[in-house]
Amino acid sequence: MTPMADAVFPRIELIRQRMLDLHLDGLLLFDMKNIRYLTGFTGSEGICFFRDGVGVLLVDGRYITQAQEQVRGFDVRLCRDKLSGLSEAFSDSVGMTVGFEASVLTVDMHLRLRKQLKGTTLKPLGDEVQQFRILKDGAELALISHAVDVSHRALLDTLFLVRVGMTEKEISRELEYRMKVLGAEDLSFPTIVASGPRAALPHAEPGFRKIERGDTVIIDYGAVVEGYHSDETCTFVVGHLNSDVGNAYAIVKEAHDRAIDAVKAGISCREIDHVARNCIETNGLGAYFTHGTGHGVGLDVHEAPRLAPTSETVLEKGMVVTIEPGVYLPGHWGIRIEDMVLVEQDGCRVLTKTSKEIELLN
Ligand code: ZN
Ligand code: ZN
Repeated sequence: MTPMADAVFPRIELIRQRMLDLHLDGLLLFDMKNIRYLTGFTGSEGICFFRDGVGVLLVDGRYITQAQEQVRGFDVRLCRDKLSGLSEAFSDSVGMTVGFEASVLTVDMHLRLRKQLKGTTLKPLGDEVQQFRILKDGAELALISHAVDVSHRALLDTLFLVRVGMTEKEISRELEYRMKVLGAEDLSFPTIVASGPRAALPHAEPGFRKIERGDTVIIDYGAVVEGYHSDETCTFVVGHLNSDVGNAYAIVKEAHDRAIDAVKAGISCREIDHVARNCIETNGLGAYFTHGTGHGVGLDVHEAPRLAPTSETVLEKGMVVTIEPGVYLPGHWGIRIEDMVLVEQDGCRVLTKTSKEIELLN
């Protein structure tokens, strides 16, 4: 059995406990990442449910063999379609309270379920289910580290090729190709390569703009290994560094470093965001820091917790989050510096490997 399959069993206990805490008689899971986390099933469609202390994975004919091979600790059942499978499984559920992921179930499916499961209370769940993947175990950390390593090596290989006159699209294609050659099964998201004034768009798509001397170039990228993501942003300067960009880079880097220094178990996400934001604001660039400071990373590239001014979540040992302050001067340049860190009891461990000292490319 793989380490991931071994990891599944304690996760089932986690769900049973959560159901007790929430006074649920049943729980429906539609989010494929949650299902993968709990069962080990990697197919693109299925439903997982718990009732009477038993976990069941319902899949259609396309996935039954795969599910039987991959899943341990769950009853794997074949169903014609989701609705009929659930109707059958919950035909005797009158009076039961059954939770579901409010942010995942479609309105259409909710209406149909209500019709089919008359007399059953369907209870929408938010953070209660969104957060059960929030702490990473050893098997997950190993895969995240692998994804980080693949993406880092691909970046180093790509930087050798970057020259004035190359387009953003050419750089992103080279980087994506190398991540896949080095073992990424997928990209964490379409790679961002944004140069010159386009770097001021925090989520720019790579375009046909050619790299010029004096540009800042933001590269935000990541690899997926066995479902687990990496996420890193580097900002490079091409040819020569002007003093405005140099000063702004130093401010963003200081915000990034201070936030990482502040990360430890017991501190709230809001406080970490404040450390980064305060540093940028006191240096006069607060108006140009227009997004949160970070987010959790795991089976989703963006998952709980959020590191933002309103996030009350308290960091715990075993969370993996990004620290990614940025400033964007519209029409001129943008700078973002992003690392992934593992929260530890008295501090954190930086997982990403690329140096964040300012680097000049040819
Ligand atoms: Zn990123
Ligand atoms: Zn990110």
